[in-house]
Amino acid sequence: MLEAHLKEIIRDIPDFPQPGIIFKDITPVLKDQALCSQIVDAFVDRLGHMEIDVIAGIESRGFLFGMMLANRLNVPFIPIRKQGKLPFKTISESYKLEYGQATIEVHEDAFPAGTKVLLHDDLLATGGTVVAASKLIQKLGGTIAGYSFVISLDFLNSQGRLTRFSEDIISLVR
Ligand code: IMP
Repeated sequence: MLEAHLKEIIRDIPDFPQPGIIFKDITPVLKDQALCSQIVDAFVDRLGHMEIDVIAGIESRGFLFGMMLANRLNVPFIPIRKQGKLPFKTISESYKLEYGQATIEVHEDAFPAGTKVLLHDDLLATGGTVVAASKLIQKLGGTIAGYSFVISLDFLNSQGRLTRFSEDIISLVR
C-alpha cells in the first residue's frame, strides 16, 4: 500500500531545523521516480471529483509534486513564494510562527477572479502556512477547490482550520 511504503521511505530527522523538532524529510522519495509517479497517480485518483482550474504550490517543497500534478491534470501551476522572491507585482499575507512571523506572496496577475484553486504543499503541520495561502487566493478573488498534501501531521488537529475554506483535504500519509 502506498501509505505504508511512504511511511517507510520518508525519514525523520531529529532536531532539524531546531532542537526539539522532528523533520519529515521527503528527499528519499524524490530519488524513486516510480514512487513519484505513484504519488501523482494517487493524487489524481482522489482529486477526481474536484473542479480545479489551477494548482498553487507553496515554496519550496510544494513546487515538487504541485508542478507534476498540474502538468498531469493539464492545468496551470502558480508559485506561492516567501517574501521578496517573486519578480513581478505581488500581494502578500503575513502569519504568525511559533517565534516571529512569516510573509508569503503571489503575483497579482496569477489567475483571474473566480478561478478554482487547488492548494498544494508537501506537509500540513499547524496549518498556518496554508491558511495564509488561502487568504492570498481569496484576495485575488479565487476560491479554494481543495487541499492536497503528501503528509499531514494529524495529531496537530489543524484540518479544522482549513474547512472554512474547503472541506476537500487530501493527504497521502497521515
Ligand atoms: P505549518 O504552517 O505549521 O502547517 O507548516 C507547514 C509548512 O512548513 C509547509 O510549507 C512545510 O513544507 C513546512 N514543514 C513543517 N514541518 C515540516 C517537516 O517536518 N517536513 C517538511 N516540511 C515541513
